[in-house]
Amino acid sequence: EKTAEQVLQEALTAWDWNALVVGAVRYGAGHINDTFCVYTQTDNGDCVRYILQRINTNTFRDPDALMENISGVTGYLRKIIEKNGGDPMRETMNVIPTREGKSYYADSDGGAWRVYTFVEDTVCLQKVETPEQFYESAYAFGNFQRLLADYPADTLHETIANFHNTVWRYENFEKALAADACGRAKEVQAEIDFVKAHKDDCAVMVNLLKEGRLPLRVTHNDTKLNNILMDKASGKGICVIDLDTVMPGLAANDYGDSIRFGANDCAEDERDLTKVNFSLPLFETYTEGFLAAAGDALTDLEKDTLVWGAKLMTLECGIRFLTDYLEGDHYFKVHREGHNLDRCRTQFKLVSDMESHWDEMKAIVKKHS
Ligand code: ADP
Ligand code: MG
Ligand code: MG
Repeated sequence: EKTAEQVLQEALTAWDWNALVVGAVRYGAGHINDTFCVYTQTDNGDCVRYILQRINTNTFRDPDALMENISGVTGYLRKIIEKNGGDPMRETMNVIPTREGKSYYADSDGGAWRVYTFVEDTVCLQKVETPEQFYESAYAFGNFQRLLADYPADTLHETIANFHNTVWRYENFEKALAADACGRAKEVQAEIDFVKAHKDDCAVMVNLLKEGRLPLRVTHNDTKLNNILMDKASGKGICVIDLDTVMPGLAANDYGDSIRFGANDCAEDERDLTKVNFSLPLFETYTEGFLAAAGDALTDLEKDTLVWGAKLMTLECGIRFLTDYLEGDHYFKVHREGHNLDRCRTQFKLVSDMESHWDEMKAIVKKHS
């Protein structure tokens, strides 16, 4: 058995740093991977930092597929950004290959490690404090969509199968309900009815994709504020990070997931539903930023169905919380009794709010298209 420190030291030897490695310390506030900052000193005395990450292989079981996705997308971004006269060292992540020329290093303990250049002079915000920051994150994710508009999305690996297959999520809910493993179904009839009433909705986007009416895009699938690096001086969202969940998917789903958690000012597990309100102003802020960057790259139908992305990502998330509640809380970590049920209720409240504001949402998308 090796200690964590020994494994870290082993991983460090897999790269040719072209400098003296001064040390490696834990870095950032990510919850998925183990992230370190590596400090090096070059011959002329400069300090150059790198991001070293141990990939969470419990969540991502196929590091080859995952790193192929990331290398493909970041390599493509680098070329496009260069062509557009941007700075590819700041506006995209850059994978640094190991001494052996591989995109990651497999350690003797079963771990998988990778190194990225460190994007200096940026901040990574954990929480939206101002609408401008929300706008900047929208612009950055919209720009990601635009830059990758011609990337062959079908060549990406689907590292998590059926991630936003809402029909499949509905079927899983039905199975959990039929099994009712914990005898909880009787307490949550209202939520069950809510899901059943939305059965047809679950198929809307899946069918448009199947019929070839919506294009397959490169999607990020974790479009949170803290996966954007903002320029320290200007506050502009300059670099999209955390590309582990990059997969083929629908543009509206990335957009929709951002709306789901960003266009409200309540906690995902708020128990007092009077505090759970969908915010049209925040919805407009994000929509404006997203479309300002991505608008020209999206088809008319993609833009018309953005509202569906918002509603379905929220519905799907609620369905997953309810399914996990019915199955006995195996998937999402719970910290109190009924935690998943509370989470499911906030999502369904937001879905209902969106339905009440459907026409206004559509008008906002039109206005900024
Ligand atoms: P997780 O999946 O665990 O959230 P991330 O890839 O988002 O992991 O990285 C965790 C944190 O490390 C980020 O929130 C950010 O603060 C920092 N970080 C990651 N990559 C870079 C980079 N290339 N340059 C600067 N900071 C980075
Ligand atoms: Mg992250
Ligand atoms: Mg992540």
